[in-house]
This record gives sequence, C-alpha cells and structure tokens, in this order.
Amino acid sequence: MKVLVAVKRVVDYNVKVRVKADGSDVDIANVKMSMNPFDEIAVEEAVRLKEAGKVSEVVAVSLGVKQCEETLRTALAMGADRAIHVETDAELQPLAVAKLLKAVAEKEQPQLMILGKQAIDDDANQTGQMVAALLGWGQGTFASKVDLAAETVDVTREVDGGLETVKLRLPAVVTTDLRLNEPRYVKLPNIMAAKKKPLDKLTVEALGVDVTPRLKTLKVAEPAKRSAGIKVANAAELVAKLKNEAKVL
Ligand code: AMP
Repeated sequence: MKVLVAVKRVVDYNVKVRVKADGSDVDIANVKMSMNPFDEIAVEEAVRLKEAGKVSEVVAVSLGVKQCEETLRTALAMGADRAIHVETDAELQPLAVAKLLKAVAEKEQPQLMILGKQAIDDDANQTGQMVAALLGWGQGTFASKVDLAAETVDVTREVDGGLETVKLRLPAVVTTDLRLNEPRYVKLPNIMAAKKKPLDKLTVEALGVDVTPRLKTLKVAEPAKRSAGIKVANAAELVAKLKNEAKVL
C-alpha cells in the first residue's frame, strides 16, 4: 500500500513574524523556514505505518519554491522513501494546492493521503477537506489515532467535547492533529542517507492545473498591543475596578 504525505514549507514556529511596512503581507525575507509541524506528524504517522508493515511505500509531496527541496529532504530523512516536488514561484492558495495534490494522486494512485490539519502560516485548515472532495474520497480530519486495515481506515477525530471514530473505505484522506504522535528526532546518518533518495520534479503546467489565486489579501495588520496589567491591593479594590472601570459587573 502506498501513502502520499503532503509537506509544506512554512515560517518556523519559533519565529515571531513581522508585518511588512506597507501592510501587504508578512515579511518572510531572511526568516527561518521549516516543515509545517502538523506535516511532521503526518510523515511520522506514514513512516510508523510502514514500520508496522502495513504500508509498502511513503511518498512525500511538496508544492512551491525551489527551497521546498529542503523540506522534502527532511521528510526523506524521517523515513519517506521518495519525494515529489511540484516547483513553482506562484502563490498557492488551498484550492490550488488541493487541485495539484489531486493531480499527483491520480498519477501515483496512493491508497491513503495524509496531510496536516492546517498550515501554521495561512491557518486555512482547508486543503485536506478540499482534496478529499475533489477526489471523491472519504476524509478523516483532526486525527488523533489512525488504524489502517487492508481496505479501510479507522480514524479517531478530535471533535468538540470528545473523540469520534469514523471508518473510511480506502482510498481516503486523513489530516493530523497534535496528539496523533510525537515526530522522531532526525539523526545525522538519516540526513546523509536522505540525500541519495529520489526526489522527482513536476511542474504545474505538466499537471494541467490552473493555480490562479481566488482570494486577494486586502491588508495584514499586527494584533492590537495589550496594555500592561496592574496589581490591586485587595478583593474590594478589584470588585470596584471591575464595576467602575471595566464595567463588567
Ligand atoms: P491549509 O489548508 O493551508 O491549512 O494546509 C493544510 C495541509 O495541506 C498542510 O498541513 C499540508 O499537509 C498541506 N499543504 C498545504 N499547502 C501545501 C504545499 N504548498 N505543499 C504541500 N502540502 C501543502
């Protein structure tokens, strides 16, 4: 069984992003980039399925600029068998990504596609749902447990107020939530070995997908600064302030 894993190159989660002076976007020049954390969980899950003997091949896919190759090399170092890079400098919105992933899936014919539940740069949480809809496959989103069988997959989902388990017929789409697993630490020998693994290139044109953005960003702004807190001497003063200043009592 083949698994396709989508990995996105995003601003590292430790970086405090700044808004460009003209408010048109966030500034990612000279900023550390890494694999989207939910996609690390997706790769880890696919590799664990392979280690458990349930999957025969793990293929990592990334769409975007040349440097996505680094993200794919990380996926290969974590244990993916090969990688596909759809290289483009175009801005890719979730619908375009979903269409490209559909085209890759049609070429590769995987039984399972694993994505992150959301990318931490656009926070869209749309791609997995869209690609499942475009392919006409079942979807198990926000997965905290994945139980793969020969023809079905049971996905335990993190929903409001608890957990829900859905059974999907394969092929299917799964998106990962934080508690699914803890991605492994990549060791140097694996990084070296990953350099020799195959990384194939595809183009948007060859896949025949129209990636024209459908949404336009009007403005990007920093969140309002929070004013400093104060200390009150006692409960009576707190109640008075809540009543007279905050006017919440
Ligand atoms: P989003 O819908 O943008 O929040 O992204 C959800 C998931 O879709 C991510 O966690 C990735 O698994 C996948 N994805 C989004 N954009 C890309 C991309 N450019 N390349 C590869 N995977 C992507």
